[in-house]
Amino acid sequence: MGTKGREIVGTDVKALLTELNRAYADEWLAYYQYWLGAKLAKGPMKDAVMAELTQHAADELRHADMLALRIIQLGGTPVLSPADWLKESGCGYDVPADPNVATLLDQNIGGEQCAIVTYQKLIQKTQTTDPVTYNLAVQILSDEVEHEEDLQALKEDLEILMAQHRG
Ligand code: FE
Ligand code: FE
Ligand code: MG
Repeated sequence: MGTKGREIVGTDVKALLTELNRAYADEWLAYYQYWLGAKLAKGPMKDAVMAELTQHAADELRHADMLALRIIQLGGTPVLSPADWLKESGCGYDVPADPNVATLLDQNIGGEQCAIVTYQKLIQKTQTTDPVTYNLAVQILSDEVEHEEDLQALKEDLEILMAQHRG
C-alpha cells in the first residue's frame, strides 16, 4: 500500500472502497452477462450481436481489473468470493433466460444505463478529492457510454430489419 498516495485522498477512504467494490462486483456480473449472452443469442443479426457482446464482455473484465488494482492501492480488498458479487452489486444481474437478440440487447442496455449512473456518481464524488480514482472513473464511463450507443444502434438496425420483413 502506498502510504502517501493514500494520504492525499481527500475523502472517506472506507466509503470510497465500498463504492469501488460495488462497481467491481457490477463489472464481473456485466462481464458474465455479456459473455453468456454472446453464446446464447438467437435471431436476426445474431452474428453482429454476438460480436458486440463478446467485445463488451472483454471491456467489462478490463474494468474489473482496473477497479481491483485501485481498491488494492487504497488498502482495500476486492470482493473475495463470487458468492458475494450479487450481494455487493449495485446494478445486479439480469438473467438471460430469453436468448432472443432483442431481449438480450434490452437487458444489456439497461445494464449500461445503470453503469453510466454509477460512474457519473463516482466522478462527482472524486473530482476534487481523488484524481486517481476520478481518472479511472472517467475512462470507464467513456467505455460505458460507447457500449450503450453500440447496443442502441444495433437495436435500431434490428427494428428496421424487422419492419422491412413485416412490410
Ligand atoms: Fe464496465
Ligand atoms: Fe459496459
Ligand atoms: Mg462496442
